[in-house]
Amino acid sequence: MSTLETQRLVNKAEKLCEQRGARLTPARREVFEILAEQEGAIGAYDLLDKLKGAVPNAKPPTIYRALDFLQEQGFVHKITSSNSYVLCSHFDHQHPVQMLICEQCGSVQEIQSDGVYDALRKQAEGQGFSVATQTIEAHGRCKDCR
Ligand SMILES: [Zn+2]
Ligand SMILES: [Zn+2]
Repeated sequence: MSTLETQRLVNKAEKLCEQRGARLTPARREVFEILAEQEGAIGAYDLLDKLKGAVPNAKPPTIYRALDFLQEQGFVHKITSSNSYVLCSHFDHQHPVQMLICEQCGSVQEIQSDGVYDALRKQAEGQGFSVATQTIEAHGRCKDCR
């Protein structure tokens, strides 16, 4: 991603934080920028390595606290199956998350299928289960790796 695009995303995140009364601290902002410049998903320890370039005394809790915050704000999605993180491609609204994860190159694409969302929610309700959030991770090969 270009620096300009990163800057645009950071500005957008800053505005949203302002509206919500949340604080995008320098460490949180830095982690956000690293994620914005990342092609695919990235693990917490790789993030920490990169963060140390800007914040030399960064420790694992620095990263985890920043990631918690960014997830709460909906800026970042956690990919549980690979224990990594990816910037949300449309983080200005809450949405069910369906991710297509390429096992070859590690790229992550987000899709939003209301049909999938509704089907899961209905089936869950049939079991008396109330769904708060949904994250679906699909593994396979992207169009460049097929
Ligand atoms: Zn998203
Ligand atoms: Zn791929």
